Amino acid sequence: MRKISIFGATGSIGQNTIDLIRRAPDSYDVVALTGGANIERLAQDAIALRADIAVTAYDGHLPALQAALQGSGVEAAAGQTALLEAAARPADWIMSAIVGAAGLAPGLEALKHGTTLALANKESLVCAGQLLLQTAERYGARLLPVDSEHSAVFQGLVGEDIAAVERIIITASGGAFRDWPLEDLPKATLAQASSHPNWDMGQRITIDSASMFNKALEVIETKEYFGVRPEQIEVLVHPESLVHALVGFNDGAIMAHLGAADMRHAIGYALHWPERQSLPVERLDLARIGQLNFRAPDPARYPALRLANEVMARGGMMGAAFNAAKEQALDDFIAGRIRFTDMAVVVETVLEQMSGESDLIDAEMTLDNVGRVDHLARKQAAHAAAERIG
Ligand code: NAD
Ligand code: MG
Repeated sequence: MRKISIFGATGSIGQNTIDLIRRAPDSYDVVALTGGANIERLAQDAIALRADIAVTAYDGHLPALQAALQGSGVEAAAGQTALLEAAARPADWIMSAIVGAAGLAPGLEALKHGTTLALANKESLVCAGQLLLQTAERYGARLLPVDSEHSAVFQGLVGEDIAAVERIIITASGGAFRDWPLEDLPKATLAQASSHPNWDMGQRITIDSASMFNKALEVIETKEYFGVRPEQIEVLVHPESLVHALVGFNDGAIMAHLGAADMRHAIGYALHWPERQSLPVERLDLARIGQLNFRAPDPARYPALRLANEVMARGGMMGAAFNAAKEQALDDFIAGRIRFTDMAVVVETVLEQMSGESDLIDAEMTLDNVGRVDHLARKQAAHAAAERIG
């Protein structure tokens, strides 16, 4: 029996992971499940999977969690320290599926204990890629990609030499507004931005797909995880979301990865790696699908992609500033304080301000310093947003 834990178990990736685990209950010994405010979901799953412990990120929800787990034999805990303690519990495999920079500290903690970390939480690679990779290496832990594009590239590299890779192409659906007239984008509502043409995901990543901040994060994630140069990374709009990524080699060959738009593929690949095992995902019928379309992303529609290039060119801890500013701008959009198109303006303003903060941006990449950059960038983003409101 493999010991596993799921961080962010109540979210979209967490629930897809649990779906796979449930299909083979005798293969897994569940150590910890963590969640946020959805205590009912967390408690139900923890009991059904016979987890040792369930942790809510929020102290205020502890009494509800304790009540829901009463008599079940599942331990209840809450708060940041409890999350770190859960990450330190011996496990063979941990799913990192908390959304946002909050996933970084538990992920690092798991790696320090030599645990294989399946990383859906792309934000932690964007904020502190070098720190994560170095920690994994130092403690002999594995970091496996779960983002669909990165899983696709990872699979395309099996048996290949990274030195023979010329380029990595990640695809993007184009999001909810890919066919909208540009002048309508400022009017986009929260409900419109929260619906994705192809994927069923958490709300935050769905909105980030409409703005392509998600793809911007993924470009940085590609650079960090695979160690390629920014010029080697391309983004291609592919409305069908069936080709997830392509790897171009020095002999001109391109290996494409195709599959249904179902995160259980990438999760299952990371779960069973280095083996492949049968997964309950749809098999593509390409004759029926008939055609696949590709086009270059429009820079005017997706300013986030240009910002990602600026972040990579600046280096240091600019990724942490970028992610934090994006998270704050997204909070402000969700709360109705700024417009959809204001998010990129806010993030760009923060990048301009932060690039001058050399003492901070170019300091040693530690968890504390990443936290400092994150804090300042959020503050600046909140200011920039307040100015947009006027
Ligand atoms: P979600 O919003 O559905 O779930 C997020 C989970 O994190 C929940 O369990 C929530 O309780 C927990 N959480 C939220 N804030 C927290 C905090 N401050 N501290 C601790 N826990 C917290 O998100 P999701 O769509 O499942 O995405 C999870 C991660 O996977 C993100 O990094 C996302 O970018 C990435 N990802 C998701 C998909 C997808 O299909 N949903 C695809 C690729 C990558
Ligand atoms: Mg992705």
